[in-house]
Formats: sequence, structure tokens, C-alpha cells
Amino acid sequence: MFDKILIANRGEIALRILRACKELGISTVAVHSTADADAMHVRLADESVCIGPPPSKDSYLNIPALLAACEITGADAVHPGYGFLSENARFAEILADHNLHFIGPKAEHIRLMGDKIEAKKTAKRLGIPVVPGSDGAVTPDQDAMAIARAIGFPVLVKAAAGGGGRGMKVAHTEADLQLALTTAANEAKSAFGDASVYLEKYLQKPRHIEIQVLGDGRGGAIHLGERDCSLQRRHQKVWEEGPSPVLDAAARAKIGNTVAKAMQELKYIGVGTIEFLYEDGEFYFIEMNTRIQVEHPVTEMITGIDLVLEQIRIAAGGDLPMAQDAVTINGHSIECRVNAENPVSFRPSPGKILQYHPPGGLGVRIDSAVYQGYVIPPYYDSLVGKLIVHGKSRVECLMRLRRALDEMVVDGIETTLPLFRALVREPAIIDGDYHIHWLEQYLAGQKAD
Ligand code: ADP
Repeated sequence: MFDKILIANRGEIALRILRACKELGISTVAVHSTADADAMHVRLADESVCIGPPPSKDSYLNIPALLAACEITGADAVHPGYGFLSENARFAEILADHNLHFIGPKAEHIRLMGDKIEAKKTAKRLGIPVVPGSDGAVTPDQDAMAIARAIGFPVLVKAAAGGGGRGMKVAHTEADLQLALTTAANEAKSAFGDASVYLEKYLQKPRHIEIQVLGDGRGGAIHLGERDCSLQRRHQKVWEEGPSPVLDAAARAKIGNTVAKAMQELKYIGVGTIEFLYEDGEFYFIEMNTRIQVEHPVTEMITGIDLVLEQIRIAAGGDLPMAQDAVTINGHSIECRVNAENPVSFRPSPGKILQYHPPGGLGVRIDSAVYQGYVIPPYYDSLVGKLIVHGKSRVECLMRLRRALDEMVVDGIETTLPLFRALVREPAIIDGDYHIHWLEQYLAGQKAD
């Protein structure tokens, strides 16, 4: 097992990792920018190192500073969390070159899945169903039109290096295609430094359903069921739940086993998520995330498995926590991402939290790094915290979420809590009857009247 882990992240996920380390008896090193000197992860870690000024590129993305922090503190492993350097294959290699352990998958798998075109080819080869589309990158001078016609309109132009919904444009008709190709390529070039784009059939009312996997790197892999993340705004997840209201045990086992088998073949190590769109009873692979995800607590609540702890144990050479047939899904869980944003305009609202009261009671969990008097800095994402609830059934879970949301107080800044208080009372949400465009349509309707 590792002796000392450096946590190359901030906010709630840094705290989440720190908690797992403490339960494993591993010493912790927090790193922080000058803007985060008072952050909770810094206060609770055994040691901390300032790695630079506020901009992420000078601090949380600053590889030389992180290496120096490992050197000074004698850390033997690095946990990257999510975002920042978590899907940077080069970072994993550099750490290995310095005899430091990257808590994550092999660099080759990060690289493979980071290129969406290669990822899709690999998924297909491993027997995972994919969205119909171009076989690889398309260029405007290539016969993109012929490919699009063959797929059938509407088509989606997507960036090979994509992430966070950037570099994605829909072409509803043939007349839209040229513009969609150039704008997606330009956006991809400026966001990722890579203008390659590909085409996919644009699904009209799919759900976003993702499968959590855990691999041991030696050919063992299990799946831990799904999370339904269909409630999205600008391709960003807002509310996640598990199990999905539309899957039964047989459908879960079928897709789960397909994915687990693929991970066994890859000899994948650590946690990973295979993301699908789901429409008319069919799954379509869109991407794989080779890291812990924001919404991982949903799976923890319904399986009882501590994913971050297992991630660390497995990275240190440990075995999978259990065999597939010992994995059971208990009850229902929902996570709300509470952001420091105006709940109508979604304008960021950084600043000082004057009053803070997290809800409590049976089946209520808050993953957050804020406290009363904490100042949310303007430099990073606007997540205040995740409210996660668990109930024996979806109905119990919704009722518990309703009362937990009503109890929660975050004053001094604007938050998206009012949005969630409205969502939890919406008939379509209560019925589980929503798709990936539902929230945007709902918000457009709200603004209209
Ligand atoms: P990113 O890596 O930028 O997040 P993804 O491929 O994961 O991109 O897609 C993000 C979101 O975009 C999906 O959750 C879904 O809402 C939408 N999306 C992606 N592909 C399609 C598609 N073929 N048809 C319809 N919507 C899609």
C-alpha cells in the first residue's frame, strides 16, 4: 500500500480523496493555489504545498510544481481526482518516470479513450454498440455530405478531442452541414488544439445512461450498474440518479456484462465509466471516462462500495473487492450538483458564504468543501457541493430529496438550489419520464412565462 498520497486537485473531490486516504491509514498531501490557501482540503490534509498563483494552468495543471511537491513531501503516489490532469496520459507517464504512482489507468488506455474516434473504434471492436456515424475523422473537402446522407439527417459534428460538450454542432438539414463542420472544427481547434471532427447520427430524445466499471489490470473487471444522467444543461450533467428509471435487471445485466467483458479484454485497471445514449431500448456508446466521476456517489450509495477507496487499493496492486455475482443494487439514489450560479440565468455567483446549513438525517450525504465564511473563488468551477440522497425506493428517495433540499441553506451567494426544489416537484421528473433535452426545454419554458 502507498504511504503518502499527494492529491492533485481541489474542492469537494480533494476532500473526498482525503477521506478515503484517512480510512486506509495513508498520509495525505494537499496542494493549492494562492487562492485556495484557506480551503478545507488544505486544512484537513497532513501536509500542504502551495503550487502557484490562482490560474489553473499555473497551479493545478503545473506539472513541474506538482513533481516538486511530491519530492519535498516524499509522496509515493498521486491521485488526480477529476478534471485538471486526471485524463492526461503524459502526466501519468511523467510520474512513472519519476518513480511516482499515478492512481488511474494505464497511460495507453487514457490516450486511447481520450481520442473519441479511436475510442469508438475500440468500443466497436470489443463488441460495445456505438452510434452510427463516420468511420473516422471527416474533413470538409472530403465528401462529408455523402457520409451525412448515408447516416441520415439530423447529424452531429463532434470533436475527436472533445470534452465538456465543446466542439459539438448539430446539422438538422443538408444546408446546415458546411457551417456545422467549420464551426465545430474551429471550436475544437481553439479548445483542444486539434481540429479533427467526425459525424454521428443525432439522436432525438435519448437518455444518457452510463455504466460504472472497476478493473484490476490483470483481466478481471466487474460492472456496478448504471447512472442515469439525462438531466443536462449545455451537455453538463445537473442531476444524476441510479438505477435508471427505464432499465430493468435484465437490461442492466446485458449491457453491464458486455462492458465488463470489454474491460476484461483491455485489462483495464481502476475505475472507469462507459457512457451511452439510450433510445428505444438500444444502447449507443459515446465515450469512456478513465477517471473517477463527479457523480460516483450515486453508485456508492446503491452498491455500498467505496469507489475512491477501491481505486486506491487497486492502484496499489489489490484485487477487485468482490465477484460480479456478489454485486447488489440496493434502493435508489439521486445526486444534485448545487452550483454557485443564478438559478435562472446560470451566471456564476462567486463570493462569501454567510450562512451554511447542510441537511442531514438518514440517507442524506453532502460532498462539499465549503463552510460558513468560505469565499468561493472566481477562478474555478462553480460547484458548491453535491447533495446525494438514498432511499429504499425511488419514491422514498424523491421525498427525502425534497425535504433535504428544503432544509439546505447557503446564503450570501446565489445557488441553483431553487432549481432543484422545483425539479423535484415536476411531474415528468417524478415519473422518471425525461431525456437529454428535457431540462433545456423546461428552462426555455420557464423563461418564456
Ligand atoms: P463531451 O465529452 O464533450 O461531454 P459526449 O460525447 O460525452 O461529449 O457528449 C456529451 C453530451 O452530448 C451527451 O450526454 C448528449 O447529451 C449529447 N450527445 C452526444 N452525442 C450525441 C448524439 N449522437 N446524439 C444526440 N446527443 C448527443
